Amino acid sequence: MKITIWNENRHEKKNPEVTKVYPEGIHGALQEVLQQEGTEVRTATLDEPEHGLSEEVLDQTDVLFWWGHIAHEEVEEHIVDRVHERVLEGMGLVVLHSGHFSKIFKKLMGTSCDLKWREADETERLWVIDPSHPLVHGIGEYIELEREEMYGEHFDVPAPDEVVMLSWFEGGEVFRSLNTYHRGNGKIVYFRPGHETYATYHNNEIQQVLKNAAAWAADGGRKRPVYGHHPDPIEKIAPRNS
Ligand code: ZN
Repeated sequence: MKITIWNENRHEKKNPEVTKVYPEGIHGALQEVLQQEGTEVRTATLDEPEHGLSEEVLDQTDVLFWWGHIAHEEVEEHIVDRVHERVLEGMGLVVLHSGHFSKIFKKLMGTSCDLKWREADETERLWVIDPSHPLVHGIGEYIELEREEMYGEHFDVPAPDEVVMLSWFEGGEVFRSLNTYHRGNGKIVYFRPGHETYATYHNNEIQQVLKNAAAWAADGGRKRPVYGHHPDPIEKIAPRNS
């Protein structure tokens, strides 16, 4: 499996609080989590040429992880179009946390993707509501994060194909936190937690869900269906007597 982790990598450059939690950047932390035998994990960041997402890189990507927050607008349209096309062709996409407002996620959803949010160091409990789903393999009834940012409903996305986890927050809100979509030949996962100042991606259970997401969404070599004019029928069509 070939994984590419895309990170905006801007908080890491500006905020020492974030660097303390993720010394190698969020992309570096995710790379370490997803690196296992038989898996190739590369990283790509906003400030690289083509944001690190050249045709060659995407040719070598079965699943793309996406973390962005303060610089969504700087992602160039032609790169968004390129990633969008790859998803329709079958590349997996795992959108993390504030990636809900990324150009690529909004393009795939077709809605505002807006939500409520609050930074108040509150507890989040992510309840498993689809226990047989591969995305929660190895997870108990819930994951509890002592401190996270709150994201609350309504989350303005199309009804997910599957809602796998539902978050409760100490302040009372709830949120659909682990959702799946199919677009064209590709699979998409949205996974909510992962605010940059919290150690969320160091949590073992969160790491387990990330690994599950890579395995579930990855392009397993599915062939894209053939579209368009189809003059040669499979069966011989008997001539009709008029
Ligand atoms: Zn955040």
